[in-house]
Amino acid sequence: MSEFINTKNNKQNTQNKTQKEEIKPIFNIKDKYNLWKESIHSFFQKSSRSYVVERKKLTHNKSEINYNSMENIPFDNIPDDAISLVLYDSYKSNASEFNQSNFVKLSSCEKTCPNNGIFDKSELDMLLSMKSSKNKECPLCKNKFDMFKEETTPPYGKLNISLQRQRSCSFYRLEFHMNSGMQDGRRYGGRSQTAYIPYSSDCEESDLALWLMIQAWVNGRLFTIGVSVTHGGFGIVFSGIHMKTNTRGGLNCHGYGRVPLNDLRNSVLPNLISECNSVDIFTPEQLDDFFENDPKLINALLKNVY
Ligand SMILES: [Zn+2]
Repeated sequence: MSEFINTKNNKQNTQNKTQKEEIKPIFNIKDKYNLWKESIHSFFQKSSRSYVVERKKLTHNKSEINYNSMENIPFDNIPDDAISLVLYDSYKSNASEFNQSNFVKLSSCEKTCPNNGIFDKSELDMLLSMKSSKNKECPLCKNKFDMFKEETTPPYGKLNISLQRQRSCSFYRLEFHMNSGMQDGRRYGGRSQTAYIPYSSDCEESDLALWLMIQAWVNGRLFTIGVSVTHGGFGIVFSGIHMKTNTRGGLNCHGYGRVPLNDLRNSVLPNLISECNSVDIFTPEQLDDFFENDPKLINALLKNVY
């Protein structure tokens, strides 16, 4: 299993056991996946257009504090003089109002704060949602919060998915159109790339492979900016997840053999799953299993799901 999940797992386990569960009762990626499958099938039944998945640069930080800098604190452990950001009076003297609240301690101002970095989580969320708190700092000690950064990396662009119907075997045709840009002061050109997944309406593996490719695309795991190993130029290059760029030619030549659906089932999909897993992209079944084993993983699991 991926390192990402393991680290999260350990962190969560060391967290305070008294924390309130903020877990929605229904976590079922398989259901979400099945709905997506229906929608994409009906899209291609009704339309000959492409199904577009755009990948954009995210320029804003999320208005959320990095949860690695946040620890849950039971009400009983709150210092008597810690004050509410709303009432400007101590939490303890308003126990009836606050004893059901979620309290957190922020490592970013634990040492400098008159509150020792302790806040009612809902008050903190309210503060962060206000436009005026642009610099995201603690109103009591003026230390900057450790904000959660949404870090997207180029390339950006569009993935156009179409269904290429052929008599012998149909294919999902994935056309990536990626924009030029700048990275580390160096300019790189745009790039288009096509990939194919054998398609049959009753083939589970076709849809799963497409779903994984979409997840990997949205999460920036298919391409990166770097020096090409084939021609040495600086630009948009593959990022370690293999894709079949031809419909024919055989598995060893970036394509498929005589029975593409068999190649998909026996080789291409198993490889795709393992390559995806190594970069924290999981199948709906894997996600549901992880959640069942540890419901506290919910945020970490949902983070990468498109
Ligand atoms: Zn503070």
